[in-house]
Amino acid sequence: MGATERRGRPLPQIPGWQAPGGLAQTLRLLVLVPILLSLVASLDWRADHSQDPLEKCTHDPDYEQLLKVVTLGLNRTLRPQKVIVVGAGVAGLVAARVLSDAGHKVTILEANNRIGGRIFTYRDPKTGWTGELGAMRMPSSHRILHELCHSLGLNLTKFIQYDKNTWTEVNNVKLRNYVVEKMPEKLGYALRPREKGHSPEGIYQMALNKALKDFKVLGCRKAMKKFERLTLLEYLLGEGNLSQPAVQLLGDVLSKDGFFYLSFPGSRARLARRYSRIVGGWDLLPRALLSSLSGPVLLNSPVVAMTQYQHHVQVQMATSHHNLKTLTADVVLLTASGPAVQRIRFSPPLPHRLQEALRGLHYVPATKVYLSFRRPFWHDDHMKGGHSNTNRPSRMIFYPPPHEGALLLASYTWSDAAAAFAGLSPDEALRLALRDVAALHGPVVYQLWDGRGIVKRWAEDPHSQGGFVVQPPVLWHSEDNAQDYNWAVPYGHIYFAGEHTAYPHGWVETAVKSALRAAIRINSGQRHVSPTSSTQEPWQWKGHRHSMARSTTCHLAKRDATPPPLQPQFSLPHTTHNRTAY
Ligand SMILES: Cc1cc2nc3c(=O)[nH]c(=O)nc-3n(C[C@H](O)[C@H](O)[C@H](O)COP(=O)(O)OP(=O)(O)OC[C@H]3O[C@@H](n4cnc5c(N)ncnc54)[C@H](O)[C@@H]3O)c2cc1C
Repeated sequence: MGATERRGRPLPQIPGWQAPGGLAQTLRLLVLVPILLSLVASLDWRADHSQDPLEKCTHDPDYEQLLKVVTLGLNRTLRPQKVIVVGAGVAGLVAARVLSDAGHKVTILEANNRIGGRIFTYRDPKTGWTGELGAMRMPSSHRILHELCHSLGLNLTKFIQYDKNTWTEVNNVKLRNYVVEKMPEKLGYALRPREKGHSPEGIYQMALNKALKDFKVLGCRKAMKKFERLTLLEYLLGEGNLSQPAVQLLGDVLSKDGFFYLSFPGSRARLARRYSRIVGGWDLLPRALLSSLSGPVLLNSPVVAMTQYQHHVQVQMATSHHNLKTLTADVVLLTASGPAVQRIRFSPPLPHRLQEALRGLHYVPATKVYLSFRRPFWHDDHMKGGHSNTNRPSRMIFYPPPHEGALLLASYTWSDAAAAFAGLSPDEALRLALRDVAALHGPVVYQLWDGRGIVKRWAEDPHSQGGFVVQPPVLWHSEDNAQDYNWAVPYGHIYFAGEHTAYPHGWVETAVKSALRAAIRINSGQRHVSPTSSTQEPWQWKGHRHSMARSTTCHLAKRDATPPPLQPQFSLPHTTHNRTAY
């Protein structure tokens, strides 16, 4: 799509864009229904969405408009603004691209020494093999993300989520998944007769059908009221009418246990079998976005403070020499995660309600451990992708697709399950994962391991400080319930975007949607709650390209869409890339 086509189209009108005050109930509905919809849709990959009983509880009323924006861009502005985007994750990069295409002057400040945030592809310097430390799959329903990739010329291919030859090993029983699909009771769970003979996903679907029915019978609002206070565990055992052994099975085999005590609607269902991935690695997405930008992207530039004035905002960022550098903008778009935003000093301070919403975000940890092998021994077991499950600490083992090397995602854990790897030295973490792989594939793996691997613990990443948001249940209702915070409303000149500001949490597409919404608002020039400071300072724009480019402490991110060089990328203390002689 050429730039000229992107410009000059009418700005789509977003119906019901700003939820007026007092519509907390509506907001909660908008929150819950889409999560349930995505949960159910992702469970049943054969589902015809038009037949879905929840279809009438439409979520994302602006989805088609956002799709248009990602395809055609925004109206070219007549009042270009100086915009500082905080964070070069996918949200920040997408917003920057759309805004600069519309004619605004955009500068991105990124705390890390790389772009991409929680999109982070490991490229092995020795073998060239890749491993996704963050996002790795996109559900087929994420049309906006598919369109974004398409517009950037990225190729997508199938992410192999399931291979019938993979293993499930629990309760000292090890079975191929083609057996578990048909007879999960063989794993030693005392299932009820009606639960026997169904795959774990089928059992989960069985429980979810009750929620679907309630949405049909009660209507969206009443059903939402009913479910939003429940944990996943409460729902499965109560409304879902599953036996305790069946719930245990879902916890062990589908790694649902990490979400048992979190909100039922908020608990993520990563069970879809129709996923895509980006050919060559997910980091090609942020790299392609970067190369489409014209404004500066400053790495190693953590924003530490912001001061709002009547007509502008000053942003302070730290330099590597412990100095502060000040930039000025008309508008700031903040895409850093909740914990990262909490570390920024705001003057005037953020409203109490907003601070509460930030504190109310519940991030679950997520940890990935990759092991490098001399050859893909899983081919001997006829595995061409998919994942094995175990109730050992490693929980899920994902196999790379054929012809893509022998870098194995030996463990992917989230929420409470990630605790098994917390606090371990990198060597200990690698060896723990290796032990679990050996339990499934036999002691031969000890000989085939080439002694290298990588451990990524997102809870310990200083920039994200967590994996992704999964909220606990709503325990009380009030008009200003913190869980219903409307992040679409800016605070003075400060706008918000990022995975935590839209629904369903924890997806790349969610971050993209939030970025597009913020960009639409910024482009339309809307301003909201004015901060109290009204000091009239002379307009002073210090953020232009040349003054920043002169900075000795910041590095401009390189613009080229080719894959990054195969060199060690992990100098950060929270990411460990180890060679051991083990
Ligand atoms: C292990 C894991 C697996 C995942 N798997 C998938 C998946 O398969 N599919 C999927 O769709 N999604 C997945 N996700 C979720 C997805 O990665 C995120 O939702 C998405 O990447 C978030 O993008 P973002 O731009 O909102 O935030 P981020 O990517 O976190 O970007 C925020 C940026 O802000 C920067 N920053 C922070 N503080 C400051 C500061 N003070 N100043 C300047 N910059 C700052 C950070 O360094 C970061 O670059 C996964 C996430 C994890 C952790």
